[in-house]
Amino acid sequence: MKAMNVTELARRLKVTPKELQDILPAVGIDIGRRAIKIDGRQAQRVMEMWPRLIAEYRAKQRQAQELQEQAVIGQQQRAPIEVPPRIRVRDFAEKLKLPLPKVIGELMKNGILSSMNQEIDFETAAIVGSELGFEIIEASKDQDAAGQHSQALAEILSAQTEGLQPRPPVVVVMGHVDHGKTKLLDAIRQTNVMAGESGGITQHIGAYQVRKKDRDITFIDTPGHEAFITMRSRGARVADIAILVVAADDSIQEQTKESIKIIHSAKLPMIVAINKIDKPDANLDRVKQDLSAIGLTPEDWGGQTITVPISAKVGTGIETLLDMVLLVADMEKERIQANPAMEAAGTIIDSHVDRASGPVATVLIQTGTLHAGEHVTVSGSYYGKIRAMKDYRGQLLEAAGPSVPVRVHGLKAAPSVGDVLQVTQHVDRKSKIKKYQLQEQMTYTNASQQSNEEEGAGKVKLDVIVKADVLGSLEAILDSLAKFEHPEVAVNVISKGLGSVTEAEGGASSNARILAFHVAPNQAAQRLAVEKQAKIEQYEVIYKLVENVRAALESLLKPEVLRQDLGRAKVLAIFRKDKDAMVVGGQVTKGKLVLQAKADVLRNDVVVLTGTIGQLQQNKIAVDRVEHGKECGIRFVGKPWLEVGDVLEVYEEEVKVKKLA
Ligand code: GDP
Repeated sequence: MKAMNVTELARRLKVTPKELQDILPAVGIDIGRRAIKIDGRQAQRVMEMWPRLIAEYRAKQRQAQELQEQAVIGQQQRAPIEVPPRIRVRDFAEKLKLPLPKVIGELMKNGILSSMNQEIDFETAAIVGSELGFEIIEASKDQDAAGQHSQALAEILSAQTEGLQPRPPVVVVMGHVDHGKTKLLDAIRQTNVMAGESGGITQHIGAYQVRKKDRDITFIDTPGHEAFITMRSRGARVADIAILVVAADDSIQEQTKESIKIIHSAKLPMIVAINKIDKPDANLDRVKQDLSAIGLTPEDWGGQTITVPISAKVGTGIETLLDMVLLVADMEKERIQANPAMEAAGTIIDSHVDRASGPVATVLIQTGTLHAGEHVTVSGSYYGKIRAMKDYRGQLLEAAGPSVPVRVHGLKAAPSVGDVLQVTQHVDRKSKIKKYQLQEQMTYTNASQQSNEEEGAGKVKLDVIVKADVLGSLEAILDSLAKFEHPEVAVNVISKGLGSVTEAEGGASSNARILAFHVAPNQAAQRLAVEKQAKIEQYEVIYKLVENVRAALESLLKPEVLRQDLGRAKVLAIFRKDKDAMVVGGQVTKGKLVLQAKADVLRNDVVVLTGTIGQLQQNKIAVDRVEHGKECGIRFVGKPWLEVGDVLEVYEEEVKVKKLA
């Protein structure tokens, strides 16, 4: 058997080349860190032994991780934790090696309600971190987890040598505010999106593609450089070519210069689109002069900068601009390629939670091909399975190759812009971080359910269905609900999840309270809920939700009745017998009698009946109490069964409403 490429072997083993290069040395097979080819016989052996090798590798990894965790526990009190100026709650928890709900809980204690994808600033992280026993120090921006993953992706991309094929260039549009970036993106979209196709109306998913001379071009659809900067600051490299828009009537401005700086630092080839040439005060020469002054002399002035005069409004020059993009792409064709046969990896360029369908994100595929149904990780954490993929026309796709922007559905949470999405075959291994966080939650819930069962069926259960917009909120809510512990009552989560309340949940049970956090029920769910008389409660604040559940649980607690004995009286005479009352004469033998107090009737020390003291008289005068030793008239309200010699034991009851701890 002849030598085989490492990438080919990796493909056959369904791992990435990088993973293969990590795994092999770890199990004692040294092919060299940077090896491109592997000896044929060795490759054969690796393939045959693969199941055993991978098992051994995982065991070693587990061991290493356990050791590391132990070491971390040992160090936690000492080693300072570096945190960037802003950090996502989830990344922060990861840094502290603490379960996410614990960190979210600690933030809550400090009055900060956050989901795992929300960012907190360094100060907040420092306060919360120190309360959790850590010393937090400020780190540079590049050190966050996503940054590391972006760099890892960049490494994968640059290390690619096998199976490379040309891919569409990815273009970003930058420039000063109001110079026409949005207008240009709209103009390109309108003139070049495949006419006549169904769904000619494009959707804003963060990027779109146009066709020119039978070639595709991908445009990042977020004008302005903020999104771009976010991605860059996290190390992501998504664009191949930049179009700098300069208005012909305004020339170079502050943000033009800033954009140029960013384009240079990203080492992107640039095309200058001189826009608004339809305007009467447009001055092409002035723009060219200003460009020359900052070292960007236009080609027609003897320099190297490509300039294209355009009018985004009228549509002039758009086709020429696209031709230029293709020309530049050809000059850069060594860089603008990828291997579509690999497992897909790409960068998140847009992300949000849809009230109806849950987390949705747009990923720009950078290598490989993403298929519907594949499992993915985002910046290393398991994020779920691609349930559906749509392109910018809203059309369902089965597969998306390099440079294709796709909207993906099925993620468990909304990732952040700049995050790296990767296909994973090893759901178990890679899902560890996420599972760990979820597991904490599960064990918590399971434990409390179990103990309920152990303590007997006496517990009254409050059935709830919990729905939330993001995983962080869901976890925070479940965590809070699990903390309601009481021997008599418990919360019973019969269903939980992300996204809107579904039809099945709406019709689940009239007993269950449906708690919807930041999500709306769909219409069918609402209708069913009405039919089944179930109530869908919508919340915007976690605290409110938790407090309402607390109140509901407390209302299920049987009130505690505290008895306070007041005194005793002996019945000496019967004066009158009514239907439901009697007037008797008696003497207080202990303590006192009090109006409206309760009275047990004791006959031979056995309680035979209970009533209340309706009236008291002393010397024919109505009184509200009679002290020890005195004789009095007593109107006993209750069954008229009193006999001379009975003893009235008089007491007060205090009803105490029980609270949850
Ligand atoms: P952005 O801030 O760079 O995205 O700029 P916009 O695309 O929002 O454009 C700013 C303003 O300039 C809008 O009122 C546009 O209609 C206008 N505009 C953009 N391109 C042209 C153009 O080619 N000609 C003229 N006359 N107006 C334009």
